[in-house]
Amino acid sequence: MYMPEGPSIIILKEETQLFLGKKVINVSGNAKQDLQRIKGQVIVELKTWGKHFLICFKDFYIRVHLLLFGSYCINEKREFNPRLSLQFKNGELNFYNASIKIVDGIPEDTYDWEIDTMSDKWNSNKVRKILDTMNETMVCDVLLDQNVFAGSGNIIKNEVLFKIYIHPESMLSVLSNSDKNNLVQVVREYCFDFYRWKKAYELRKHWLIYRARICPRCKIPVSIKVAGKTKRKTYFCSSCQLLKR
Ligand SMILES: [Zn+2]
Repeated sequence: MYMPEGPSIIILKEETQLFLGKKVINVSGNAKQDLQRIKGQVIVELKTWGKHFLICFKDFYIRVHLLLFGSYCINEKREFNPRLSLQFKNGELNFYNASIKIVDGIPEDTYDWEIDTMSDKWNSNKVRKILDTMNETMVCDVLLDQNVFAGSGNIIKNEVLFKIYIHPESMLSVLSNSDKNNLVQVVREYCFDFYRWKKAYELRKHWLIYRARICPRCKIPVSIKVAGKTKRKTYFCSSCQLLKR
C-alpha cells in the first residue's frame, strides 16, 4: 500500500468520466459533511490538482483526498462503509478512508495549476523561482511540499533524486543552478513516466531506488533513512548520491 500520487489521481479522473454530466440520484457515506446537498446535482466537471480529486457541481465542489489508505470503487462496493457513495442512473462511485470536503465556489478560487506537476498549465519557471526562496530546506522535503510540486509524493521524491544524483538531505542552498533546473525538469518528466507505467500496471518494475536493496549503478546496499522534517522513508545510495555541504 502506498499513498496515491498525482499521476494516480489523473487515472482516477479518467476512470470516472462515465459520471460526467450525470445527476447524483442518491448520496450516502460517513463523511462529516452536508452530503444531502449533493443529491439531485449534476456533475459539471471532474478535475484534479496534485493529489486532490475535484467533483464539481454548479456552485460547489467535493474535494477528495485519498490520504495514505484511501481508495475508490466504481460500480463495486467494499465490505465496510464508504466515506462517500454517489449513486447515478448509470452506476455508483464509492470512496473509502478518504478525506471528503464540500467547498463552496469553484476550484479556480483556490488552486494554482501552475505548480501542479501533471497540469497543462504547469509553469517550470515559476516552480524554479520558488526553489530560490527555499535555501534552508532539504530537497527531500521540497519534493513533498504540495505548494511547490503539487502531486509529487514519496515515490516520485526517491526516484527523482536518484536519477539526478542528489542526496535527499542536501539543503537547497548547496545545489547549483543547473541542479535546480534539472530537478524541476526531471520531476515533471518522471510524473508522466509514472502515469504511463501505472496505466500499464508496470510501475513497480521501473522503481530504481524506491524499496530497492542494491543500488543499480554502484551495486552496493541502498541506505534507508527517515529523512527531513517530513519524516518519510527515504531510499538513496550513499555512493552516487553524495551529500554536498
Ligand atoms: Zn549508487
